[in-house]
Amino acid sequence: MTPTAGPYAGTARLDATRRALELQALGDAPRIDLLVIGGGVTGAGVALDAASRGLRTVLVEARDLAFGTSRWSSKLVHGGLRYLASGRIKVARESAVERGVLMTRTAPHLIRALPQLVPLLPDLLRPGQAALIRTGFHAGDALRLGAGTPGVLLPRVRRIDAERTRRLVPAVRTAGLRGALVAHDGQLVDDARLVVALARTAAQYGASVLTRVRAEEVTGASARLVDALTGQEITVRAGAVVNATGVWAGEVDASIRLRPSRGTHLLVDAGLLGHPTAALTVPVPGSTSRFVFALPQQLGRVAIGLTDEDAPGPIPDEPQPSEAEVSFLLDTVNTALATALTRSDVRGAHAGLRPLIDTGDGSTADISREHAVLESPSGVVTVVGGKLTTYRRMAEDAVDAAVRLRGLPARTCWTARLPLVGAPGHRDSRPSPAGARTGGEVPASLLARHGGTAHEVLAAGESAPIAEGLDVTRAEVAYAVSHEGALDAVDVLDRRTRIGLVAADAERARKAVEEIVAETVAQRR
Ligand SMILES: Cc1cc2nc3c(=O)[nH]c(=O)nc-3n(C[C@H](O)[C@H](O)[C@H](O)COP(=O)(O)OP(=O)(O)OC[C@H]3O[C@@H](n4cnc5c(N)ncnc54)[C@H](O)[C@@H]3O)c2cc1C
Repeated sequence: MTPTAGPYAGTARLDATRRALELQALGDAPRIDLLVIGGGVTGAGVALDAASRGLRTVLVEARDLAFGTSRWSSKLVHGGLRYLASGRIKVARESAVERGVLMTRTAPHLIRALPQLVPLLPDLLRPGQAALIRTGFHAGDALRLGAGTPGVLLPRVRRIDAERTRRLVPAVRTAGLRGALVAHDGQLVDDARLVVALARTAAQYGASVLTRVRAEEVTGASARLVDALTGQEITVRAGAVVNATGVWAGEVDASIRLRPSRGTHLLVDAGLLGHPTAALTVPVPGSTSRFVFALPQQLGRVAIGLTDEDAPGPIPDEPQPSEAEVSFLLDTVNTALATALTRSDVRGAHAGLRPLIDTGDGSTADISREHAVLESPSGVVTVVGGKLTTYRRMAEDAVDAAVRLRGLPARTCWTARLPLVGAPGHRDSRPSPAGARTGGEVPASLLARHGGTAHEVLAAGESAPIAEGLDVTRAEVAYAVSHEGALDAVDVLDRRTRIGLVAADAERARKAVEEIVAETVAQRR
């Protein structure tokens, strides 16, 4: 029996029963083609790449899908502009191409075009800086054109007047405002939702996706898998093992030495900035190349980021922002606002770690933008670095390496043409959720998070909000358990929805989420 035989074969449904069945099947037949360790965007992408090439694939994630860095990003689908500035043409092109693939074929339902606006305030920009930014924006536009991404999807660079600037970002300082430069990039409704869509699509193509399972004693051809829920252990034999554990890569393969850097975001209520519909880009005083962004997000928040702080030492489960980072972000964004934000306006703060390679001589090599595929002496293939935007290319490179090194029987990669669950063209997607049982009215926020599977979500529960003022429906909570592999209320609060980003919101929703999780689990037994 293959791990995905039975009632789940060919479905994108992940739940506790499937997990138990597949663990049992793996224990009975522990010989597979590819073991993927890590359920972030990279590991989920590798599992989809391998399974869709016909390899018998198992992904193990020690905690939950998107538990690591993949949920702490800025949620941008970058076109590569920032890499051009540092002369990294190849990575800039790769980013622009992958952004186009995501926005046109694989996950357009999760991504929208986000205007990014640099206000023309004379005391904010250094002499010549506006011209430099304009040149950069046009170079970014050339990348978009080169990647074949149409202008209707990502409009061209333009200059807007002060009135239009105020309409897009009402809180911007108006004294001396001469308008703004605007360029467009992609923005994910949520990074963790991309990971879940990848993992579910991988499962549909036959991969076993096993959360709460840690890989230990990993070699190039085997690993001991430990089920955190039961303590059961399985030793699997694999044609190849791919280590996609991000900043934890060195714990799985001792030949990898990383030294992370921390990036922090703050969350404030969107109302404080007048509900902006564009990202505000603010130059860091004294620098020509560093910026702080205020990015409109789902659930009525604006995220303000980003820092870059050396973070040596043991890797924490959830990195914590420092007070100095919070002050730096507030001070910088305030230089462009009419009314300054204060510490008490901060509703939440979170941080993620970028993996930098420790060269051992006190310096680091930056692979946080460009990815690396490394084969260790034990034969483990590690894929590390890169970014959310380029996960597909990273996955292709890692599986290509595993296939080449181990002679695995795989077809060529075709993920650039493979729509993820919820995307138009995916076999479970419906073009319009009209006729859903709420009478045709589907909350826009639900549609933005689920795309063409909105009808399935609404069939899982009620369309009422989970708590007053939170635009997450009760149906989404039930669906997270019945289809998206959430095993408990914390998975739902912190990763399937992002209610947990603001602790006060999580407290308001927790009881209702716990009840729906318990009911849904009981129904599925
Ligand atoms: C602050 C910040 C902002 C960013 N913003 C952007 C952005 O806007 N756009 C963009 O494109 N990129 C962005 N990036 C980059 C992007 O977030 C990362 O490149 C990406 O999320 C890394 O994913 P990953 O799957 O490699 O690692 P992770 O997401 O960390 O996944 C690794 C997983 O491995 C699991 N694991 C660890 N050890 C084991 C084990 N022994 N057994 C089983 N599982 C294990 C962990 O639990 C974890 O879930 C940002 C990065 C940072 C830090």
